[in-house]
Order: sequence, then C-alpha cells, then structure tokens
Amino acid sequence: MVQGVGFRPFVYRLAVQNGLAGFVQNRPKGVIAEVEGPQAAVDSFLAGVRHDLPPLAHVTQVESAEIAILHDHDFRIVESDAQGPADVHITPDAATCPDCLSELFDPANRRFRYPFINCTNCGPRLTIIRTIPYDRANTSMACFPLCPQCQAEYENPADRRFHAEPNACTVCGPQLTLLNAEGSPVDTRDPIATAVDLLSSGHVLAIKGLGGFHLSVDAARDEAVKKLRSRKYREEKPLAIMVRDMEQARQIVRVSADEEALLTSPRRPIVLLEKIKNSIVAEAVAPGVSNLGVMLPYTPLHHLLLRDRFAALVMTSANQVDEPISTKNREALKRLQGIADYFLVHNRDILVRCDDSVAFVAAGYPQFIRRSRGYVPHPLALRDCLPPVLALGGQLKTTHCILKGRFAFVSPHIGDMETPQARNFFDESLALMKRITDSDPQIIACDLHPAYYSTQAARELTAERIIPVQHHHAHIASCMADNQITGDVIGLAMDGTGYGPDGNAWGGEFLIADETHFQRFGHLRYLVLPGGEKAIHEPWRIAISLLRTAYGRNWKETAQKLKLIPDEAQGDLFEKIIESKIHSPLSSGLGRLFDGVAALIGLRRQVSFEGQAAMELESIACGSSGAPYPFEILPSDGEPCVLDMSAAIRAMVTDLEADRSRPRLAAQFHRTLIDAFTAMSEAMRRSTGLSRVVLSGGCFQNKILLTGTMDKLKLSGFDVYCHRDIPANDGGLSLGQAVIAASMIKKGC
Ligand SMILES: [Zn+2]
Ligand SMILES: [Zn+2]
Ligand SMILES: [Zn+2]
Repeated sequence: MVQGVGFRPFVYRLAVQNGLAGFVQNRPKGVIAEVEGPQAAVDSFLAGVRHDLPPLAHVTQVESAEIAILHDHDFRIVESDAQGPADVHITPDAATCPDCLSELFDPANRRFRYPFINCTNCGPRLTIIRTIPYDRANTSMACFPLCPQCQAEYENPADRRFHAEPNACTVCGPQLTLLNAEGSPVDTRDPIATAVDLLSSGHVLAIKGLGGFHLSVDAARDEAVKKLRSRKYREEKPLAIMVRDMEQARQIVRVSADEEALLTSPRRPIVLLEKIKNSIVAEAVAPGVSNLGVMLPYTPLHHLLLRDRFAALVMTSANQVDEPISTKNREALKRLQGIADYFLVHNRDILVRCDDSVAFVAAGYPQFIRRSRGYVPHPLALRDCLPPVLALGGQLKTTHCILKGRFAFVSPHIGDMETPQARNFFDESLALMKRITDSDPQIIACDLHPAYYSTQAARELTAERIIPVQHHHAHIASCMADNQITGDVIGLAMDGTGYGPDGNAWGGEFLIADETHFQRFGHLRYLVLPGGEKAIHEPWRIAISLLRTAYGRNWKETAQKLKLIPDEAQGDLFEKIIESKIHSPLSSGLGRLFDGVAALIGLRRQVSFEGQAAMELESIACGSSGAPYPFEILPSDGEPCVLDMSAAIRAMVTDLEADRSRPRLAAQFHRTLIDAFTAMSEAMRRSTGLSRVVLSGGCFQNKILLTGTMDKLKLSGFDVYCHRDIPANDGGLSLGQAVIAASMIKKGC
C-alpha cells in the first residue's frame, strides 16, 4: 500500500535529505524511484525506504538495480503512469489523525470545525474510489476543484497534505446540510450544533458517514433508544455505540490493553466489550447480553457531534432489517422514511458501501465478526502464489474474494442475500473487486448449496470452470489461509448450518482436511428440527427434539415438567411430526444445539435474530464455572463417528429439576463442549497421527468456547490455529472457497 498514503513525499524527503537527484512515480505495480548520487547516500536512501514508513503505508517488497547515470540535478515527483495492469493496493479508510484533530479544534486554523478535514495520513480512501489509479479525478472528490490554498498544499512536497487526494477546506470542499424528514433543508447556520440539539431532545437522526448512513440517538436516553428500535423493527438485537473518547469508554465498559489498542487504531472497528453495570448507557441499547459494541469517533464529523454534549451516541447501520447499509442521500431519505426524524447529509458521494467492522479480542488477536470499513481492501498475504480465482461466498454474511498472485482480496461485508437490495449490492461489490484488483478470474468458486443466491450467480457468470466447495471445508481452508499453513490438519468447523453432501444440514463437523480434500471423521449427532425453518426461530422446538433423543419415547413427561409443552396432546402432535419426518430436516449444527439448550434451561422460547440464544447462553455462563457433563463418542463402522450429547442433556435436566443455578448450567454446558472437542481431536490424532487443529465456523465467535478449546487442546499437546484477520463466521467462506479452488487448479484436480 503505497498510493494515497504519502509514500511519494516520504521518498522525496528521503532523497532530498540524502542529497540525491532523480524522481519518484506511481506505477501500476507499485512505486518506482530513480536516484543518483554518491554510493553512501544511495545506500542510506535504500535503507531508509524500508523504515520509518508513513503510518498507512505497507511495503511487501523492495527491488533495486543499477542503471546508467543521467546527470540529473534535482529530485522530482512525476505524474502517475496508468499503463499496464495495476498491482497496487488501495488503502482502507482511516480515522482522523491527531494532527488533523488538533487543527479541527484550533480556532486559529482555517479548517476550524470543518467536518471533512483530512491529510495523507487519514481520511476517506476506498469509500470514495471510482476506479484506479488512486488520483483525485478517479474519486468522488473530482467535482470539488481545489482552492488556491489547498492546491498549494497539494503541490508542496514538504506539506503533510502533499497529494492528499481528498484534501479539502471550508472554501472548496464538501459541505453539510441538515434535512427534515421530508427532505427539505432546515434553516440553520450551523447544521452540527442544530443536529446536537435535536439528538439531545430525543430525536432520531440519520447521519451520513464514511461507508454509509448511521441511525443515531443519544445512548443515555432510554425512550429515544426504544423509539429507534420500534421504528427499525429491531426489537432486541444489540446496537453499537460511539463513545466520545477512551476516558468515557472506561466509564461504560471494561477495556484491556489489547482492546484499547484495537479501539484506538486508525481502523476504528466496533469492539465488543464487557459492560459496566449502571453506566449512563440505556439498558435498551443491548438488552440481555453482557457485552456492548463500542467504537470511537473516526471522522471529523463524529468528533464534532460528540465533543461537547454526549458521552455516547447510538450509531447503528441505517438500513431496514436484512437490507444493506444506505449510502446515497436520496436513497436514504426514501428508505429511512418513518425511521429518521432528520437527516444530516453532505455532498461528497459514497462510492463504496462499507459497514463498520466488528471484532472482539481473544487468544491474543482481534477476532472479526465483520471485517469491512478500515480493513477492506487490505489483502491477506498467502503462503504461496495461487492461480486467479473469484469466490462468491455463502448465503449469510456474504463476502467475495479474489485471488491474485500471493494476495487474497476479500470484499466489504455484503450481508444476507435475502433481499433485492442485497442482491444489487452483491453485483456492485463484484464489479468493485474486479476493478480494484484489475482482474477478472475465469475460475469461479461457490458453495455446494444449490439454492444459494451466490451459487445461482456463479452459474450465470461466464467462466472457464465453476468449482462448488463444501461449506465446512471452506471454513477450515479459510482459517488455514489466515494462518498461512498448508497440508493435512484436524479441522473443527462449528456453526449453525451449511449444506452437506448427504443432503442434511451440517454444522458440528470434525474433518480431516487439506487445501483440496476433506474427509468427515465425525459429527455432532443429527437432530430433527421439527417444523424446519420454524425451529430456527422457535428454539423450544429444538429443545423438544433434544429431549426426545435423550429420553426416547418417555420424553413428553420431562418436556411438560420443563414447561416446554402445555400438555400430553401437544406431545403426541410433535411425536407425529417427528415420526412422519414432514418438515423435519436433520441438522448436526452446533448452533442448533446451543439454541436447544438455551430453550431447555428456560432462557428463551423464541429468537428474533440468528445466534441470539447462543449469545445469551454465553452471556450468562460468563463468570460461572462447574464440572463438565458426560457425553459419548459413538464409533460407526465405515461411517463418520458421532458425538452424542444425550447424556449431557439428561444430566442437565436433573440439575434443572434440582433447581440449580442457570449460569452454572450454562457454564457446565460450555465445559462439556470443550472436553468433547478435545476428546474428538484426540481420537482423530490417534487415527491419523495429525497434531494440528484448526478452529473455524461462527460458533467460535463464542469467546468462552474459543479460548477454552484452545487452552485445553494446547494442554493436550496440539498446535492450535484460530482466525486472525478473517471472520470465523460465513464472512470468511469466500476466502476458503477461493483457496480450495485455486489449489485444485494448481494440483490439477
Ligand atoms: Zn490527518
Ligand atoms: Zn480549499
Ligand atoms: Zn458457516
């Protein structure tokens, strides 16, 4: 990453300091510099190029060669050369830097309170790009001609805004406007001050940010938060908050040193942190869970909004349920009608939709739940060069991935492919990825599921070859790529659901895998999901299925005692549904087991979003402990072995009947899984001699499960790998699919 990050001025200064002549230029393959002067000066220059880089620059390789002397006298920065294929990486958007921040609040500065202040070390990047190379003319800043003062900064190699493509000021740059719900401008000289007043009096504001609109209310006002929830039909899902600074953050959540580093990094993700009881944040922001999603301001506008009045604002992606984030002013006005009271907009277009990234810290690394703004399109370096492949991801939390040489480029988070808006965004994102990687791979990878939108899209694209990849194999391959490892591994892929070649829903999978093949060594015992899709929204149905497996035909009495069914008659009805196998698919998903256990212990009968029951089970288990429950590994001749949790379910029921504490039960359930995963891994090691275990799948976003499994496996002598830069959930699937397809091509499979 050497373009748009002040790299050429850095080279310029280095050359001038060393008294060298020559030039530096952006090229499709990176940056090229020619220097001439005394040998010692050239050596010192070359050494300097590898060190003291500008904060957003990232250099993967420096090559040098001797050429004929040209007898130049000065050092110049010359225009970009757009010829040939581009190999330069576009940088992600970066949070306002300390220099710009101090200017923003300096009354003597000409950019005092200017909400679009930026420089070569900060500001918008990916989200304003139309095409490459990264020059102002190819961004949404093209329609703002620089004023003489900004132009002078832009042209002065000694200025920190030299070639800062989004450079702007009050005179020449983008401006804010405050609109009412009908889209008419509000009469105000200071849109920010008025917006702050409106938020203070409990209004819902739609605020145009870097990668899309946020919906915002004062996080301390319970009734405002509830109003936003009811208007957005988001009754229970936790909302993210933006906190003024670290000092305020510490009043609201517990923050470790690693978490602080992540919160304050220029990438500024939402970090999941443990709530402090009785903070100023309204309970309605994240009801029923122990964590809160917190981020710090990352644009000048955010700083201006939060500076004086608020400790924290709710900042949630502005969209209707399941739709992608809104980016355009008119689109936002239409789509957020009835939700936002006012719109704080500006006239700099967002060209690339980019949601906030979400992560938590565990096992010494950030663990991504969503990797988007601030990280995309920074590529992942692969261990080897692989053939070009485009992978289209899965159905939920979809991303795309393009492999190019030694790099994997994963797209911004697209989301769930359920709505026409999401499908448009899918196409938008595909075009973007091809443009910024300047490539159009002819090998396409997708999921095995025939009904996924991405699978259908793969068939509609012209391609040399389409390679469908099994969901859980892709999870394991993505974690292997994330750790730059290849060869045979033990793979634990734990999630809600993914299409299995036997036609069942898989999701508690113990695989022996490498980057081209996998074998299903074992799986969680199949559960009947009575009512199919309905069971996912009503986990009490899964609890019934668990009891039926654990108690055979005598399950009804226990189900009645636990108040899962009102009477014998409903029990008979369920018996029929399950026996007849109508609308009752089989699932080995660990996510479903979590749902069932949450319902069994009376945590909730229904869920309003995917993973809710599991999140709450983790939340109440946090801080409790207890002995693991029993479980069984059932060998099966020639077939994968089965991990059966029936004994654990029976023991849990006994504890429930004895009225034991639920947090303790939840903790014991986690312990049981950790022990079961270790026992299965040991069985796989005995059978194969392998000792590397790879953990992937959405269930490893459960911090207790992830850290517990890692610790226990390490104690048992395994080398354990978890995700580092890519989400463990389905957001990481596209990377795994791409690596598998490319490795198959490379090996001639
Ligand atoms: Zn800056
Ligand atoms: Zn200007
Ligand atoms: Zn999955």
